[in-house]
Amino acid sequence: QRIEWRRLKFAPSLTKDGVSHLITANIGTPADLQAVLDNGADGIGLFRSEFLYMDADNWPTEDQQFSAYRDVVAKLGDQPVVVRTMDIGGDKGLSYLQLPDEMNPFMGYRAIRISLNRTDIFRTQLRALLRASAYGNLWIMFPMIATLPELRQAKQIYREERQKLIAASIPVGEVRLGMMIEVPAAAVLADQFAKEVDFMSIGTNDLIGYTMAADRTNERVSYLYQPYNPSILRLIKNVIDACHREGKVAAMCGEMAGDQIAVPILIGMGLDEFSMSASSILKTRALFRRLDSTQMVDLANRAINAETNEAVIRLVDETVF
Ligand code: PEP
Ligand code: MG
Repeated sequence: QRIEWRRLKFAPSLTKDGVSHLITANIGTPADLQAVLDNGADGIGLFRSEFLYMDADNWPTEDQQFSAYRDVVAKLGDQPVVVRTMDIGGDKGLSYLQLPDEMNPFMGYRAIRISLNRTDIFRTQLRALLRASAYGNLWIMFPMIATLPELRQAKQIYREERQKLIAASIPVGEVRLGMMIEVPAAAVLADQFAKEVDFMSIGTNDLIGYTMAADRTNERVSYLYQPYNPSILRLIKNVIDACHREGKVAAMCGEMAGDQIAVPILIGMGLDEFSMSASSILKTRALFRRLDSTQMVDLANRAINAETNEAVIRLVDETVF
C-alpha cells in the first residue's frame, strides 16, 4: 500500500470524477520542509510561526524572521505558503513574556489577542512577512479571530506596514490575507467574515474543543471531543458555503483535514484545501481517488442530519470503506 502511495507523489490531488483540491502540509519549523517536498505536497497550508518565538530567549528580530520566512517561500516556488501569525498563549509560553496567571488560558490572553495588544511585536512580524512575500507565494492568516473588529484592526495594521514598505521602495509581493476559524462565534458569522478576507482556514483542533466545551487532554471529558459530531459538521459546512458564496478559498488545517473518516464528508462539502502533517498526504491523495464527489455530497448531507458522532462514523464506513 505504501508503495502504491509513493507513486502518487507527483500526481494531482483529484477525486475519482476528476475534481481537484489542494493537499498541503502543516509545518512547525523550516526543518520540516524536507518531508513536505518528499511527500509531494501542493504547498504549505499552515506554517506555525511560534518556533521563532519559542526557540529564542528574546523577541526574534525582523531580519531573523524575514530570513526564516523567505527560505521557506523560496523553496516552494509558485506553491502557496500560508503563514499564521504568532499563536502564543494557551499552552505555549515564552520565557521573556510574562503572561498573566489565568484560570482558563485557552480562553484567555493568546494569539491575535496578544498581537493586537502588543502591536510592536505584531508589526515586526508583519514587516518580516511582507518582505519575504517578494520571494514566493506567501499568504498570511490570523489565529483565534472571534469578532469583526479584531479582524479589521489586524488588517489595518497590516495595510499600514505594507504602505510603509512600499513608500521605502522595499519590494513586497501579492499577499492573500485570511483568518483561522477556531472560535465558534466566527464560524457562525462566517458569511460576514467571508466578505473581508481572501480565504479562511478552519482550525478544527481548537474549534472542536470550544464547540463541545471539552478539553481533549482531560481524560474525563475526552469522550466529548467529537470531530464528527453533526454540530461540528454544520459549523464547517457553514464556513465552506460562506466562502464559496463570496468566491473565497475554504481551507482546513486542523487534524480533521487528514482524518480518513472526515475527508469523504469534506470532499462532499466542497472544501478547497486540506492541510495536514506531511506523513498523511499520500494516503489522503490515494483516498481522494476512490471518492466520487457527487456521491460525497449526498454523504455530507446525510452526515449533517445525523444525530451523533458514532452515527456519522457508521455512515462513512458503510458508504466508503
Ligand atoms: C487548530 O486549532 O486546529 C490549529 C491548526 O491550530 P493549533 O493546532 O496550532 O492550535
Ligand atoms: Mg489552534
